[in-house]
Amino acid sequence: MIIVMASRKQEDVDHVVQKIEEMGYKAHVILGVERTVIAAIGDEREKYRLTSLEALPHVERVFPILKPFKLAGREVRQEPSVVQCGPVKIGGGHFCVFAGPCSVESREQILETAAVVKAAGAQMLRGGAYKPRTSPYSFQGMEEEGLKLLQEAGQKYGLPVVTEVMTPEQVPLVEHYADMFQIGARNMQNYGLLKAVGKARKPVFLKRGMMSTINEFLMSAEYVMSEGNPNVVLCERGIRTFETETRNTLDIQAVPILRKYSHLPIVVDPCHASGAWDLVLPMARAAVAAGADGIMVEVHPHPEVAFSDGQQSLKPGTFEQLMREIRPLLDIMKMQLG
Ligand code: PEP
Ligand code: MN
Repeated sequence: MIIVMASRKQEDVDHVVQKIEEMGYKAHVILGVERTVIAAIGDEREKYRLTSLEALPHVERVFPILKPFKLAGREVRQEPSVVQCGPVKIGGGHFCVFAGPCSVESREQILETAAVVKAAGAQMLRGGAYKPRTSPYSFQGMEEEGLKLLQEAGQKYGLPVVTEVMTPEQVPLVEHYADMFQIGARNMQNYGLLKAVGKARKPVFLKRGMMSTINEFLMSAEYVMSEGNPNVVLCERGIRTFETETRNTLDIQAVPILRKYSHLPIVVDPCHASGAWDLVLPMARAAVAAGADGIMVEVHPHPEVAFSDGQQSLKPGTFEQLMREIRPLLDIMKMQLG
């Protein structure tokens, strides 16, 4: 249920939160520009008990949230959410470029890549230390050593870092080194993991499962948010279709559809969507034109010897070209970098 406050005073908000909790619901306070609302989330069957809160003088209205995604949806918050990661803002007119190798492979590799992407204008550094590979015989990542190197490179070049966390047990370690958690496509419906990052403090970069609908995607965001972490960034990274020409099919329509249903920032990953480096530039341009709040791009100093995803990674020069090409489009879309 949504409780629209008539008052914005802290003591009045606290009072309503206490009442909601006494009834056995979780209260999520959403501070909008125009109004403060409280989303009461819990047992759906008895939710109408909450309408009695309308009797309180500082409550304006109580009504049900109709969509299945409650905290991620526009019903509780009309204006776009801006997710903050260190000094970087994502959403609400702030466009963020996440760039870096698929995997952290060595100190030299991650430092060189960080230098290149920073100079070209990226805001965040990405790099996998725990890799979800199709084959158990493929490179699995450098694990904690990789996290350390990623953190070092991020700090050296002033880039907050995002990296994948694959199990609930890894959450504290990844949170220690990284500025943002990445939930990979294969784990989008790993509900135990979603709950674990939902209880953590750092923002979450949630990738759409390759076989998931938009509704399922938003329900996964809901899992994270319902545990108390409102800082979720959605990432469209391509879905499986009958087309065999590309690794996946970029569902560019997901951008305006997600925008219609949700206030959360939306990022596009043209690398995993296409699986081919020469498709990354046109799809990155399409992402900006479709209204995305950011792109995630794999960049490697020597893609031909990359331990993973070399075929879809950009060389430094091509990444610089991408950044040059999107700048005028960002102006048209009234988005600013960073
Ligand atoms: C990645 O970002 O390197 C990755 C494994 O992505 P996805 O989970 O989208 O396949
Ligand atoms: Mn990859």
